[in-house]
Amino acid sequence: AKEKGRGNFQFFSEEMNRNALDRNALEHKLRRAIEEEQFELYYQPQWDMHSRTLIGVEALIRWRHPQDGLISPGRFIPVAEDTGLIRPLGEWVLRTACAQVRAWQDQGYPPVRVGVNISGRQFRQPDLVEMIDRILAETGLDPCYLELELTETYLMEDARSTSRILEFLKVRGVELAIDDFGTGYSSLNYLKHFPIDRIKIDQSFVREVTSSRDDAAIVEAIIAMAGSLELDVIAEGVETAQQLKFLKAKGCREMQGYFFARPMPADEMSRYLEEHRER
Ligand code: C2E
Ligand code: CA
Ligand code: CA
Ligand code: CA
Repeated sequence: AKEKGRGNFQFFSEEMNRNALDRNALEHKLRRAIEEEQFELYYQPQWDMHSRTLIGVEALIRWRHPQDGLISPGRFIPVAEDTGLIRPLGEWVLRTACAQVRAWQDQGYPPVRVGVNISGRQFRQPDLVEMIDRILAETGLDPCYLELELTETYLMEDARSTSRILEFLKVRGVELAIDDFGTGYSSLNYLKHFPIDRIKIDQSFVREVTSSRDDAAIVEAIIAMAGSLELDVIAEGVETAQQLKFLKAKGCREMQGYFFARPMPADEMSRYLEEHRER
């Protein structure tokens, strides 16, 4: 070809081609998966360690491909974003999560909130608010039990339109959380202007909290800041009793992580709710 002998060009283009093929194959599979509903939602408990109550669950998507087995959301969510497939997929997640939490309420479990992850393109889709209205109406879930987990990077992209969308959601009574807090945008100014209820301290800080002075200082500062802005704060990725102890001592009440439970299918979560019904 034309580029022969030009250093590494051919090597790189083959490499790129292979990635594109992988991605095309994945996109094709993803389309089918949506049609055939190969997805499942897992739920991970969130605890308030102050009142010792189960306050919520985070919904985490799982894709069980009939041949390839379990494919992680870290791999297919970006493809769903790029291809626009996040729209039907995100709608499925929202509907399934709201219906499930409503069903648990109908079965008499103490009500828990459900956290649903919203990716960038999904947040900007023009009919997001309408879609959420429709799903809340269909499932009959009180909006205060739905919490959207949003990330700083895309919220900051167009602050004016972000404000508008967040205000619309807040008026309806939906809870709003900043996910992966501390890893994205460096300005904290937006916290004053956006109607945020809660920040989720990113698990990368929590992981080293008992071994790294820097991470300990960052986590302590985030908790203090959340307190003075009157925001709720939850630590994610809590795996050890030492981490829990540190967080509690610094005034962080809410926690989520393997120390409490791994994400689990809905039926297992029902049993978990049953076990923790007594207080
Ligand atoms: P995330 O929202 O930050 O979710 C937390 C991730 O940490 C989850 O990985 C969860 O299983 C894992 N995790 C929970 N506790 C612990 C712990 O104690 N230690 C460690 N090491 N990990 C813990 P998962 O389920 O693989 O999800 C990865 C990412 O994929 C999520 O990160 C989220 O960004 C995205 N995602 C998952 N489900 C959805 C969804 O329904 N919609 C969208 N848009 N994104 C989703
Ligand atoms: Ca999340
Ligand atoms: Ca997170
Ligand atoms: Ca609130």
